[in-house]
Amino acid sequence: LLQLAMPLNFLGFVYREIRQALIDMHTMFELLHKDLEIKDVSNASELQVNGGEIRFEDCTFGYDERRPILKGVSFTVPAGKKLAIVGSSGAGKSTISRLLFRFYDLDSGKITIDDHDISQVQQASLRQAIGIVPQDTVLFNDTIFYNIAYGRPSASREEVEAAAKLAKIHDFVMSLPDGYDSTVGERGLKLSGGEKQRVAIARTVLKNPAIMLFDEATSALDSKTEQDIQASLNDVSKDRTTLVIAHRLSTVVDADEIIVLEQGQIAERGTHNGLLKKSGLYAEMWRRQLEVAQKVAEVEKAAEGE
Ligand code: ATP
Repeated sequence: LLQLAMPLNFLGFVYREIRQALIDMHTMFELLHKDLEIKDVSNASELQVNGGEIRFEDCTFGYDERRPILKGVSFTVPAGKKLAIVGSSGAGKSTISRLLFRFYDLDSGKITIDDHDISQVQQASLRQAIGIVPQDTVLFNDTIFYNIAYGRPSASREEVEAAAKLAKIHDFVMSLPDGYDSTVGERGLKLSGGEKQRVAIARTVLKNPAIMLFDEATSALDSKTEQDIQASLNDVSKDRTTLVIAHRLSTVVDADEIIVLEQGQIAERGTHNGLLKKSGLYAEMWRRQLEVAQKVAEVEKAAEGE
């Protein structure tokens, strides 16, 4: 029986490897396909970023033309300022970031960066100008060094370590037996949500983009991790044009402008204090989040007392 089990075990291993390879290929072709859908115009120029002002002008878009997702959205993020987008699930927040990356073209309206229409510039130069810290960072089945250096493949060991220090992940990496040579990703070491976000922050630091896009994770991180990540992000986004898709209102308090998106339209806009005074949607969201935070604190306190 043992003689039979060994080859079966091996076959199982081969099967899983082939299946993973097929999944990887599928993902790759999906990504390639996505790129092929949107083409550069024939005489596309390279995007020259000078400050990185972002402007959405009366933007309308739907993944399916029968179902509009964004309906006439307009806003400007002046160079070096921070705009936060809040709103209920499905309101269209992440869609805004996908459009800025030009994963899709608008049905009508215009998106510009420093007055250049993003549909007229080379996609590679557009994506080079934007550093993204996504909700769920994809890690390659490679070393942690490779995963961070992906932000700028020519980066030296010193530069990668400096970026990791800024993103506050260096100490964690050094605590691993193989340090920066540790393999991470699906078939290696699994990193936690917070650690993955730090890898993404380190990548962004290396890329050194004029524009930063932060899609905050919906899944809750513990509050200490959350605060630490917030602090690293604030360091990294200083003096860069920053767009935050926020799920926790604590992230948006210091934004230069907050827009509240409801069913693809801007329902309210202003600063944190201005919006609280309006006693509208934002004020209500804030009140609800405070209530939840208080409940969590009470439960934590009760658990401590047990
Ligand atoms: P959340 O806070 O839950 O992340 P969101 O405000 O970021 O939500 P979006 O991801 O922008 O919402 O999605 C807006 C709407 O567009 C949703 O109704 C969603 O179902 C739809 N949608 C998103 N991506 C696609 C897609 N690739 N194809 C078709 N519909 C999509």
